[in-house]
Amino acid sequence: MSLNPLTLIEKVITEHGSAAVQKTHLDLLKTQIVSLQSERDQLAEESAQLKMKLKEAEANLAELAKSENFVTKSGILWKPDGERFEPIPYCPRCKVPMTSAMNKFICCCCDFVTNKSRPPAKS
Ligand SMILES: [Zn+2]
Repeated sequence: MSLNPLTLIEKVITEHGSAAVQKTHLDLLKTQIVSLQSERDQLAEESAQLKMKLKEAEANLAELAKSENFVTKSGILWKPDGERFEPIPYCPRCKVPMTSAMNKFICCCCDFVTNKSRPPAKS
Protein backbone atom coordinates (compact mmCIF):
# COMPACT_ATOMS: atom_id res chain seq x y z
CA MET A 1 0.00 0.00 0.00
CA SER A 2 1.80 3.05 -1.27
CA LEU A 3 0.83 6.62 -0.47
CA ASN A 4 0.49 8.39 -3.77
CA PRO A 5 0.49 12.14 -3.01
CA LEU A 6 -2.10 12.82 -5.70
CA THR A 7 -4.41 10.17 -4.24
CA LEU A 8 -3.92 11.68 -0.79
CA ILE A 9 -4.76 15.19 -2.05
CA GLU A 10 -7.77 13.87 -3.95
CA LYS A 11 -8.98 12.08 -0.79
CA VAL A 12 -8.64 15.27 1.30
CA ILE A 13 -10.57 17.30 -1.30
CA THR A 14 -13.32 14.67 -1.48
CA GLU A 15 -13.70 14.43 2.30
CA HIS A 16 -13.61 18.19 2.75
CA GLY A 17 -16.17 18.60 -0.04
CA SER A 18 -18.42 15.94 1.51
CA ALA A 19 -18.36 17.74 4.84
CA ALA A 20 -19.50 20.95 3.15
CA VAL A 21 -22.27 19.10 1.32
CA GLN A 22 -23.31 17.38 4.54
CA LYS A 23 -23.50 20.73 6.32
CA THR A 24 -25.69 22.07 3.53
CA HIS A 25 -27.94 19.02 3.80
CA LEU A 26 -28.14 19.37 7.58
CA ASP A 27 -29.06 23.05 7.26
CA LEU A 28 -31.76 22.14 4.74
CA LEU A 29 -33.09 19.41 7.05
CA LYS A 30 -33.15 21.80 10.01
CA THR A 31 -35.13 24.31 7.93
CA GLN A 32 -37.57 21.58 6.90
CA ILE A 33 -37.97 20.37 10.50
CA VAL A 34 -38.79 23.90 11.70
CA SER A 35 -41.27 24.31 8.84
CA LEU A 36 -42.94 20.95 9.57
CA GLN A 37 -43.15 21.69 13.30
CA SER A 38 -44.88 24.96 12.52
CA GLU A 39 -47.26 23.19 10.14
CA ARG A 40 -47.97 20.50 12.77
CA ASP A 41 -48.80 23.14 15.40
CA GLN A 42 -51.10 24.93 12.95
CA LEU A 43 -52.90 21.67 12.09
CA ALA A 44 -53.27 20.75 15.76
CA GLU A 45 -54.87 24.12 16.43
CA GLU A 46 -57.14 23.74 13.40
CA SER A 47 -58.11 20.23 14.53
CA ALA A 48 -58.98 21.47 18.02
CA GLN A 49 -61.15 24.23 16.54
CA LEU A 50 -62.92 21.77 14.22
CA LYS A 51 -63.55 19.34 17.08
CA MET A 52 -65.16 22.17 19.04
CA LYS A 53 -67.34 23.11 16.05
CA LEU A 54 -68.32 19.45 15.60
CA LYS A 55 -69.37 19.23 19.26
CA GLU A 56 -71.48 22.36 18.84
CA ALA A 57 -73.05 21.01 15.65
CA GLU A 58 -73.83 17.68 17.31
CA ALA A 59 -75.38 19.47 20.27
CA ASN A 60 -77.46 21.61 17.89
CA LEU A 61 -78.55 18.53 15.97
CA ALA A 62 -79.53 16.74 19.18
CA GLU A 63 -81.54 19.80 20.27
CA LEU A 64 -83.22 19.97 16.87
CA ALA A 65 -84.04 16.28 16.98
CA LYS A 66 -85.57 16.66 20.44
CA SER A 67 -87.96 19.27 19.07
CA GLU A 68 -89.23 16.80 16.46
CA ASN A 69 -92.21 14.59 17.26
CA PHE A 70 -90.53 11.23 17.11
CA VAL A 71 -92.47 8.04 17.62
CA THR A 72 -90.68 5.08 19.18
CA LYS A 73 -91.19 1.68 17.62
CA SER A 74 -88.87 -1.34 17.85
CA GLY A 75 -86.50 0.66 20.05
CA ILE A 76 -85.76 3.26 17.38
CA LEU A 77 -87.22 6.65 16.55
CA TRP A 78 -89.46 7.35 13.57
CA LYS A 79 -90.10 10.83 12.28
CA PRO A 80 -93.60 11.68 11.05
CA ASP A 81 -93.79 12.76 7.43
CA GLY A 82 -97.31 13.86 6.66
CA GLU A 83 -99.66 10.90 7.08
CA ARG A 84 -96.81 8.38 7.25
CA PHE A 85 -93.29 8.16 8.63
CA GLU A 86 -89.93 8.67 7.01
CA PRO A 87 -88.53 5.32 5.79
CA ILE A 88 -85.23 5.69 7.67
CA PRO A 89 -85.38 5.79 11.49
CA TYR A 90 -83.33 7.89 13.90
CA CYS A 91 -80.90 6.68 16.53
CA PRO A 92 -82.55 6.61 19.97
CA ARG A 93 -79.32 7.83 21.59
CA CYS A 94 -78.02 10.44 19.12
CA LYS A 95 -81.24 11.36 17.31
CA VAL A 96 -79.46 11.30 13.95
CA PRO A 97 -80.70 9.43 10.87
CA MET A 98 -79.49 5.85 10.85
CA THR A 99 -77.82 4.09 7.94
CA SER A 100 -79.56 1.14 6.33
CA ALA A 101 -77.22 -1.77 5.64
CA MET A 102 -78.17 -5.37 4.90
CA ASN A 103 -80.88 -6.21 7.45
CA LYS A 104 -79.72 -3.64 9.99
CA PHE A 105 -80.10 0.00 10.88
CA ILE A 106 -76.80 1.42 12.09
CA CYS A 107 -75.99 4.72 13.81
CA CYS A 108 -72.86 6.29 12.38
CA CYS A 109 -72.28 8.29 15.57
CA CYS A 110 -72.53 5.73 18.37
CA ASP A 111 -72.53 2.44 16.40
CA PHE A 112 -75.97 1.51 17.75
CA VAL A 113 -77.21 -1.40 15.63
CA THR A 114 -80.66 -2.88 15.43
CA ASN A 115 -82.52 -5.20 13.11
CA LYS A 116 -84.27 -3.49 10.26
CA SER A 117 -87.97 -2.91 10.85
CA ARG A 118 -90.82 -1.06 9.25
CA PRO A 119 -92.05 2.36 10.34
CA PRO A 120 -95.23 2.56 12.44
CA ALA A 121 -98.40 2.02 10.41
CA LYS A 122 -99.90 5.53 10.54
CA SER A 123 -99.59 8.58 12.71
ZN1 LIG B 1 -76.35 6.89 17.81
